[in-house]
Formats: sequence, C-alpha cells, structure tokens
Amino acid sequence: MGIAYKYRIYPSAREVAVIEHQLDHCRWLYNAALEQRITAHKAMGKSISYRNQQDELPSIRADYPEFKNIHSQVLQNILRRIDNSFQNFYRRLKQGEKSGFPRFKGKDHFDSRCYPQSGFRINGNKVELSKIGNIKVKWHRPIEGIIKTCTIKRSGKHWHVIFSCIIPRAVKKKVVCSAIGIDLGLESFVTLSNGDQIANPKHLKKNEERLKAVQSRYSLKKSKSAKKELCSLHRKISNQRNDFVHKTSRKLVNQFDLVVYEDLDIKKMVEGRYAKSIHDAGWGKFIGLIRYKAESAGSYAKSVNPYHTSQTCSNCGTLVKKEIHQRWHNCPVCGLSLHRDHNAAINILKSGTDAVFSDAPSALPRGGSLYNCRHNG
Ligand SMILES: [Zn+2]
Repeated sequence: MGIAYKYRIYPSAREVAVIEHQLDHCRWLYNAALEQRITAHKAMGKSISYRNQQDELPSIRADYPEFKNIHSQVLQNILRRIDNSFQNFYRRLKQGEKSGFPRFKGKDHFDSRCYPQSGFRINGNKVELSKIGNIKVKWHRPIEGIIKTCTIKRSGKHWHVIFSCIIPRAVKKKVVCSAIGIDLGLESFVTLSNGDQIANPKHLKKNEERLKAVQSRYSLKKSKSAKKELCSLHRKISNQRNDFVHKTSRKLVNQFDLVVYEDLDIKKMVEGRYAKSIHDAGWGKFIGLIRYKAESAGSYAKSVNPYHTSQTCSNCGTLVKKEIHQRWHNCPVCGLSLHRDHNAAINILKSGTDAVFSDAPSALPRGGSLYNCRHNG
C-alpha cells in the first residue's frame, strides 16, 4: 500500500530555471524514446524493451552533455513511464480494443520528474535534490512511513514535491476496546455513533460555493483568465480537502480501534440523486485514509452495507420510514428520538462490530463483549 504526501516548495529563480531546463530535456528524452518504440512497432511489428532503451542512456549522456546534469535515475524513470504506457497499449491490443499509441508530450503537458530511489534527501526545512539544489519546503503535515520516491511537479505558477511512502503493516493486530460507526453526510461531513458531528471546514465550504460561480462563468465565456481562476481554485480546494481528510482520519484512527463505515459504492446507489456530488471526492479519499491508517496501526476498519441504516431504529429495530428532508428519527414504538445521521451511525457501528468479531475472534476484548468497554460510540 502506498500513500502520497505533497508539499509546496519554494525554489529560487535559479533553481526554477534549472528544473525547467531539466524538464525540457526529460521531455525530449520521453518523446525520443516514444518515437523509437512507435517506429519499431510500425516498421517491424517489434517491441523494444525497457532494458534496450536503458542500455542506450550512457551513450546519450556521452553525446549530449546536458544529460550529465540530470540524475541518472530520473532519466531511467522516464523510460519506465514509457514502458508502462506501452505495456498498457499492448494489453489493450491483446484484448482486441482499438488503441492509439501513447502520446507525445507538448511543453505544457510535461510537468513532473521523479527520483525513484535516490538523489534526494530531507534536510531540515529543505529538500536536497541531486543536480538541482537545496529547496525550501513548507512541511504542513508530517510524513508517515518509508519514503520510496520523490517527484517534483509544477502546477501553474507553483511547485510541489510529492513523496510516495509505504507504511509497513503492523505486525500485531489490536484487541478492539473502542469502536465507532461513522455516517457520511451532506449536512455534516461525518456523524459519529457517539453523536459527535464533524463539519466540513468553513473555508472549504466557502471555496466550493465559489467554485460553482466560477464554473458557470467559465462555461459562459471560455476566457483564459476564467480558466486560470478555475484551475487555481480547484487546486486550492483539493489541497484544503486533502488536509482536512488527513487530519480527521488520523484523529479517528488514534481514538478508536475499530472504525465502521458505509460501503460508498452502495451508498451512492441508494442515494442515487447524490451521485457525482462534490462530496464524493472527499469521502473516497477519507475512507481510503482510514483503512490505510488503521492497517498500519494494527486496528480495524470495516465497511458495511448502508441499506436501511437511516430507516431502522437503532434501539428496537423497527423500520421508521423517512424522506430525505426529515432530519430527525422519532421511533413510534420505543420512543427513541435523535438526529437521523446519529441513528444511522449507531446502526452502522452495530453491523460492523458483529462482522469484525465473527471474522476475527481474536479482536474481541476480554470478557467477550465490546459493550463492556469504555467510550464506544
Ligand atoms: Zn425504536
């Protein structure tokens, strides 16, 4: 399992010039290697391997001294990228699909380069990049796990460094002593089975509202400035959302040994009219992070079928039908009265704990019941 950590970096004008110069050369190599493969395929139906192309790198570096200033693994990584897209191309052909060759890259479509193993080092508040320099980083969140690769990426006017990391699985699974069910909603981002609600951050909400306005402005007149505004807003929202889901998932996983959530694909089907809602992106990422963080902490994350979770009374099991606008659950049989999302979260927790303990009896706390434990939802 891998996870990416992205940080803004502040290269100096000189460093930007160096990176852009290198990107240009990387793009040249990419296009040249691509052309070689396409020609071989067209002329002789032959495929050139990654190995073949990699073996040519030393002579390219000898003939074109500019390439000596680029870390060798960065160049190898470009050939890997070509290799991957060709493997996909061949696979599609094999499956009888119509498939075009991978595309040549224009100047605006080649904006990242990657150190796959070495050539980079974290150095206090900077990242040291081989053949580029020491660049200041804004570490807004700690990195977790073992860093595998380091990518430098241009997005508009800004630059970022992206570390892809793996977190080793915890060797030993925990005994579940605290559990929580979560209901993903539109009103609050999540409602917990203990009744707590976590709202979407205000600044994120505001920007999402703004996005709608900017989007409609852009679709009216497709001006360059509107497009620029749209891109930068998209980026901003994605960063803010990222930050929020990272923090929230970390908090839940630290606090609870078991987190039960709804199966998102089924949820979308059940609530058909919300499919493709702007919330999807945040929800998917959030659940992915919970699973990931739980895995590495040796705790549990379990998905359950969301069908009827909001309609069933979490106290007595009676089906209490409600329309989507009815925000309160009032049970005519047992008298339970609480927010509908809170009711749903309790149902989610119940079906999840039962499933986890039947799959993994070793997760059961001493005494055999989670319900004896402290602070479960
Ligand atoms: Zn009831």
